[in-house]
Amino acid sequence: MADTPESDRDRTVGIDLGTTLTKLAHIDQSGRPVIIPNAEGELLTPSIVAFTKTGVLVGRDARRESLSNPARAVLNIKRQMGNPKWRFKVDGETYTPESISALILRKVIQDAEVHIGPIRRAVITVPAYFDDARRKATEDAGGIAGIDVLDIVNEPTASALAYGLGEAGEDGVILVYDLGGGTFDVTVIEKRGNEFITLATDGDVELGGKDWDERLVNFLADRFRNEFDADPREDPQALAYLYVSAEEAKKTLSRRDWARVPVSYRGHWGNYDISRDAFESITEDLLAVTQLTTEMVLEEAGITWAGVRRVIPTGGSTRMPVVQRLLERMSGKDVRTEVPVDESVAHGAAIHAAVCLLGSGRRIHELSAEAAERLGKIKTADVAAHALGLIIKDVRTLQYRNDVLIPKNSRLPVSVTKTYQTAVAGQQKVILQVVQGDAPAPEANIIIGAAEVTDLPAGRPAGSLVKVTYSYDRKGRIHLKAEDQQTGTAITTEITRESGLKADQVAEEARRLSLKSIE
Ligand code: AMP
Repeated sequence: MADTPESDRDRTVGIDLGTTLTKLAHIDQSGRPVIIPNAEGELLTPSIVAFTKTGVLVGRDARRESLSNPARAVLNIKRQMGNPKWRFKVDGETYTPESISALILRKVIQDAEVHIGPIRRAVITVPAYFDDARRKATEDAGGIAGIDVLDIVNEPTASALAYGLGEAGEDGVILVYDLGGGTFDVTVIEKRGNEFITLATDGDVELGGKDWDERLVNFLADRFRNEFDADPREDPQALAYLYVSAEEAKKTLSRRDWARVPVSYRGHWGNYDISRDAFESITEDLLAVTQLTTEMVLEEAGITWAGVRRVIPTGGSTRMPVVQRLLERMSGKDVRTEVPVDESVAHGAAIHAAVCLLGSGRRIHELSAEAAERLGKIKTADVAAHALGLIIKDVRTLQYRNDVLIPKNSRLPVSVTKTYQTAVAGQQKVILQVVQGDAPAPEANIIIGAAEVTDLPAGRPAGSLVKVTYSYDRKGRIHLKAEDQQTGTAITTEITRESGLKADQVAEEARRLSLKSIE
């Protein structure tokens, strides 16, 4: 798509690429976000990819296939984004997390194109807490899927946009509590007129609805093993079925105060009743983690509950009544959800996509003049979820430590310039270790990689000055720039990342995947 010439018919969409479900939305003529159904007629597409002998399945069909053939299916790929070690091998081919995510993107895009015409650009959402490697992997997944990634936007910012649009007049501090399928974050956002300014954010990329499912799986499997002396967790297929039953039961427990779960394995059948109270008690510690994070983020934002105007729950897992109760207990406020909790992120992504396009001076042909004017006024500002640091050798202790250059929660975009002296005469290269995090010990942070400043002018004495600028762009991505202090000329820099695909690998993956059809 991205290689073909622009056309008035090209559409821009917002995509919530979730751990368990993916949603795609666009803006209608009146500027309202609308989720576009997939080929199965569903608004939510399971983020599951399955490889059959004849092709690739994504979504509902992949979920069915994953039950009969778990070894040929990939679930929860979002948890692996940015992980350089994760690879999926099937039928002699190897897939990266980026390419699996690209297949999910391709599916929702190709299904939406039937309704709205060719899609050229997209905004993709990520948890606010995603680090540079995970953000880059998400952007690359879009590239592999053949779309221009207009922006990467934080999920809570997207949610706030979706709510804020409905009530343009209501200013104040918004707390977004986002508990999805595989990630959790809390973000404090200030809405001032048409501006949405993030004040603080934190979270856990390893916590989500899946952990609640896992507790139920273990609860059920333990009871089954006690009764029949056989453990369904031993067999991947039985385990896959058990996960589906556990998730179903969890959802039932959001509506009713008990659920009955059938479990079968090795010819035995068990039926287990679980009450909502029992479910809440076996998952109490998971909820407590979210409470601690919420209180910590408020503190980081320098705000008390009295200063919070509204609390927005988002993410499918906030449908659990215990979450609503927690939020109401903590905040002392009514927790409203006028936008469905699992649709608000995609809605906000579509709004943000329109805001980005209008902001760059482009017209959106399908949008009415009134809606374009309204959307054109919206502004968002995010913060860095992680500090940016450099590993230096402390001259006093001679130990390596993390020198924080950009503190956590700095408003994006943000740059910091440091001046370095060359150590020896004729030095032409400086290598710096860049990390994300604010822990003093280097290994307690996320290692981004080696930043190399090469081609320093030849023949300079020791002590020559080099200016290096480190920055986070609006998307929370890291950039590096260097210049020779004496002449002001730019010096080549490159970050050799510990993880992530190179530009030519993205192009090659895009070519390879374009040959695959999603059935
Ligand atoms: P999301 O990533 O926002 O799409 O959220 C997906 C997660 O929400 C999955 O873990 C689902 O099991 C969970 N979920 C969806 N509906 C419900 C419900 N009614 N009760 C509890 N959890 C739910």
